[in-house]
Amino acid sequence: MIRLEEIERRYVSDEVETVALDKVNLAVDEGEFVAIMGPSGCGKSTLLNTLGTIDRPTSGEYWFGDTDLASYPEPELARFRGSNLGFIFQSFNLIDELTIEENVALGLAYRTEKGDESERITAAMDTVGIVHRRRHYPHQLSGGQQQRAAIARAIVGEPKLILADEPTGNLDSQNGEQVMNILSALNDSGATILMVTHSPSHADMAKRRIDMLDGRIVASAMRAM
Ligand code: ADP
Repeated sequence: MIRLEEIERRYVSDEVETVALDKVNLAVDEGEFVAIMGPSGCGKSTLLNTLGTIDRPTSGEYWFGDTDLASYPEPELARFRGSNLGFIFQSFNLIDELTIEENVALGLAYRTEKGDESERITAAMDTVGIVHRRRHYPHQLSGGQQQRAAIARAIVGEPKLILADEPTGNLDSQNGEQVMNILSALNDSGATILMVTHSPSHADMAKRRIDMLDGRIVASAMRAM
């Protein structure tokens, strides 16, 4: 489904050059659940942002199906993101002025077919067990509930790929486990997920684990079933 070929991302500031991604090659099949681990600064976020087309590689190819996104023009890229990708962040990134339901509806902003929005929004909130909070505002919810609402927003448009950057990083262990169970269930029903995590036990819930070091992928192992 996706393929990175020799992806490089270099940052230049004050004449110091940082190689955040050093010729990364990676292929991910539909239906995979991949955990990305590694020490701080090794390039995990840069890799996830590159996959999310939020960051553009300095060189290399990023194939998503038959399309090389590395050289795709920006307006088309925004539309591509809206209809193919779902994002989950460590800090939830909900909009405080909008209700939970309105936040979830943002995940449908790029859909062209209209008509069944409210059913989809209710179904997404139901999947994460947040329907009873639909008229509340983010600050009225616990961190775990906010992250579940953010997951509903990520999945409501039925994206081909879900990208999660430390989705349990701001949660206590019980809420973190609940979020991991939701991600596992989404994967069981066909979602493809890439997740950055610092938690070895959460990485163990993925089907494959990738380890990064100094901008490179140094190990990739399937979980023993
Ligand atoms: P991780 O997510 O594993 O902590 P990052 O992808 O955030 O790592 O960063 C990888 C490397 O790229 C680090 O050395 C970091 O300092 C550098 N980096 C990230 N973003 C920038 C930026 N905007 N400008 C300069 N260097 C950056």
